[in-house]
Amino acid sequence: GYVFAIESSCDETACAVLDGNGRVLAEAVLSQAGHAEFGGVVPEIAARAHLLHLPELARRVLAEAAIAEPGFVPADLVAVAASTGPGLIGGLIVGSGLGRGLALSLGVPFVPVNHIEAHALTARLPGLVPGGAEFPYLLLLVSGGHCQCIAVDGLGSYRRLGGTIDDAAGEAFDKVAKLLGLGWPGGPALERLALEGDPAAIPLPRPLLGRAGCDFSFSGLKTAVAQRLAGRPADQALDRREAADLAASFQAAVADVMADRVRHALGMMPEATLLVAAGGVAANATLRSRLAAVASAQGVRFAAPPLRLCTDNAVMVAWTAIERLRAGAVEGGVSGDLLTPARPRWPLQEMAATPGSPG
Ligand code: ATP
Ligand code: MG
Ligand code: FE
Repeated sequence: GYVFAIESSCDETACAVLDGNGRVLAEAVLSQAGHAEFGGVVPEIAARAHLLHLPELARRVLAEAAIAEPGFVPADLVAVAASTGPGLIGGLIVGSGLGRGLALSLGVPFVPVNHIEAHALTARLPGLVPGGAEFPYLLLLVSGGHCQCIAVDGLGSYRRLGGTIDDAAGEAFDKVAKLLGLGWPGGPALERLALEGDPAAIPLPRPLLGRAGCDFSFSGLKTAVAQRLAGRPADQALDRREAADLAASFQAAVADVMADRVRHALGMMPEATLLVAAGGVAANATLRSRLAAVASAQGVRFAAPPLRLCTDNAVMVAWTAIERLRAGAVEGGVSGDLLTPARPRWPLQEMAATPGSPG
């Protein structure tokens, strides 16, 4: 059987069709460009953009699935899934509304998917991680909205070992990029600029480094960059060299902190033999290589899904639904899940793999 999935929890509108083995028949992601001039995602604009683009995208992906797999028709779907939280309520309602309608019209189950669980399970897509991603493993989720270490003990069984006490990692990259006059989202631009700079040029703090546990903090680091810029002579424009040094020094500070926090998290989860990094910030090459080094020093494998599966996408939503269907964790028929509301907040700890339990 095939699964159709929708992702619309933030500023990506995405659809995918996977077969029951996790093979991708078709997928597409539309990244909303309209937020750049505001320097961040505007919820109301995001919701309207999902409403405008999702029906056509869904049609297109279903049509592409029929090309990839001649004979495929939507009636072959055994389930329809959508992210129903956590995220921006408008987009969640649009995506889960279309998903529920499609499920109802086909007479198949609607699978409400926790977006963070989807990030957490992506590494288990067949063929993605050499040697496979068996439970348990440690997940570092670092994106625009999240920064946490999660013990992935099994399907539906997650422990939050630690997380940010202020900004998310991507948020910190975006804010510092903005201070340096780079566009939004700032992470990729900051990484490019950092290539030209000296990571040891400007001393910056390493918040929480060496502290027990694996919490993160980034706001002091951002403030240090802001103060550094504020302390410059007002008549002197920031030259490229200095901006590059700041970018490189900031990135080095984040890498030091992240390596330290993840080392602690691995210490809190001695049973883990695999470290998985996910989320848009996991695209950063400096961070990736530091995380790989931390893992290998602890005798643990390291994996990071390809970028297109690190950032928001519908393949991970479909895959999560497949995992839950396989585990029998989805109510059959046209179930009560049709009435499950979208949840802007939905902590991963509230997930359970068994039907009928809260989640
Ligand atoms: P979430 O998934 O948490 O709901 P999101 O949609 O903002 O939120 P992603 O799309 O996974 O998250 O990631 C986007 C974030 O990743 C942005 O903050 C962006 O600046 C950051 N990012 C992307 N590429 C890089 C990079 N090469 N280096 C650092 N940060 C990056
Ligand atoms: Mg995004
Ligand atoms: Fe996400």
